[in-house]
Amino acid sequence: MTSAMNRPPNSFDVLVVGAGPAGIAAACCAAESGARVGVLDNNPRAGGQIWRGQSQSLAAANPDARKWFEKFASSPIEFLPSTEVVDHLEKGHLIVQSIDAQPIGEVRELAYKKLILCTGARELFLPFPGWTLPNVMGAGGLQALVKSGLSISGKKVVVAGSGPLLLAVAAHLREHGADVRLIAEQAPWHRVARFGMSLVFEKAKLAQAFEIKRQLSGVPYKTSCWPIRATGNGEGGKLESVTLRGGNKTWQERCDYLACGFHLVPNTELAALLGCELRAGFVRVDAIQQTSVSGVFCAGEPTSIGGVDLSIVEGQLAGYAAAGQTASVAKLAPQKRRLDRFAALLREAFALREELRSSVDPETIVCRCEDVKFSRIRQHSSWRAAKLQTRCGMGPCQGRICGPATEFLFGWKVDSVRPPVFAASLQSLAVAAAMQTEEHLMSHEESR
Ligand SMILES: Cc1cc2nc3c(=O)[nH]c(=O)nc-3n(C[C@H](O)[C@H](O)[C@H](O)COP(=O)(O)OP(=O)(O)OC[C@H]3O[C@@H](n4cnc5c(N)ncnc54)[C@H](O)[C@@H]3O)c2cc1C
Repeated sequence: MTSAMNRPPNSFDVLVVGAGPAGIAAACCAAESGARVGVLDNNPRAGGQIWRGQSQSLAAANPDARKWFEKFASSPIEFLPSTEVVDHLEKGHLIVQSIDAQPIGEVRELAYKKLILCTGARELFLPFPGWTLPNVMGAGGLQALVKSGLSISGKKVVVAGSGPLLLAVAAHLREHGADVRLIAEQAPWHRVARFGMSLVFEKAKLAQAFEIKRQLSGVPYKTSCWPIRATGNGEGGKLESVTLRGGNKTWQERCDYLACGFHLVPNTELAALLGCELRAGFVRVDAIQQTSVSGVFCAGEPTSIGGVDLSIVEGQLAGYAAAGQTASVAKLAPQKRRLDRFAALLREAFALREELRSSVDPETIVCRCEDVKFSRIRQHSSWRAAKLQTRCGMGPCQGRICGPATEFLFGWKVDSVRPPVFAASLQSLAVAAAMQTEEHLMSHEESR
């Protein structure tokens, strides 16, 4: 415990949290100025959600990913894999834990002059009866398992929820041999069609859309359609079918997997812990991606959900701005404005319909870490009250899944974020507490 505390912290001019497309771009751009740059990510490899696994075989990576991985590898950047932020000390200091040394990770302090948060997003899951059954998975989650080697060949899959991610996932699963029975999109046809037409102005995205359409040829895509129940083989048994509602019809579709996600939720917990202001659920940033806390920047999906191109441009902006390269910042502004318009279209097209709120019944589990049912949660009037009375949101995911679900179901806001940002071992917590006490004593000593 003492060895971690007595060691001087690793210090960076610019420290980037998250090595997805936004974090990689931010780090590369900051490093161009000669700044000492560090990047940490809780995964063993860089790439984030979309480029996951592509750094291992650059030949197979898409050209954009390859370009950025090559730049990342050839830049003087210190990459700290399998490392996550647990807490912060005073301004300029983070407490991180290494998560590859099981069972207990090493805890240490990292110091920075400028911090760039590129913590990405996660899928939004909405509860409905049977959503906790084995083989009902997040759409991106199932895709990630297949990328990591799960065999999906010959399996019947229904992909349901909302957003373009469903199409990317369905195409990926089909490419790996899945029998994709149906893609159920909750948004109505007219909104999806308007969104599709807007792609005419985005050549790369249009080409990608045509490629996905080709890959999914013959797979039914139903709009205004959503899952209302998943049914398993006996009590808690493996998934056998999903009941869907579309138009005036309700029907069952047999499947081995239900890949289900209702678009994305930004990962804003660390930003909130550092005191950055949020607006409508996203981290508020200015034209150079600086948050309301001076010296703390944010890029990619915590600021807006707009796809990989927007994440990269925001990462570049934040990296240049953090390193003081103002001339390069100005050049990126028109591209950023164009991609911001695309993000607004995305938000509008895939807004969630009211009817999804009525898919839950009293017995539906809403907080799956603590097994808290809808009937218990609805007796309360706020997130805080439900948490205190039912333990909803107090399990290992720390409300990352049921928090956004209750926000949609009841309009509740998660009103505070407390450390640790991720579940930590008792030893990690003890080291973090000792570091904070030491920090406190030192500042007290200095002020005397
Ligand atoms: C599950 C999932 C699958 C997706 N699949 C596709 C797809 O197939 N096609 C597509 O076009 N788009 C996909 N997207 C959307 C895609 O993620 C974005 O377009 C793009 O990757 C966003 O890049 P980013 O850098 O902003 O975030 P991300 O790529 O999410 O990168 C953020 C990184 O930060 C890390 N991180 C977060 N918090 C911490 C912390 N406290 N400490 C350390 N590390 C941290 C995360 O583990 C992650 O590696 C997917 C999104 C999700 C959630």
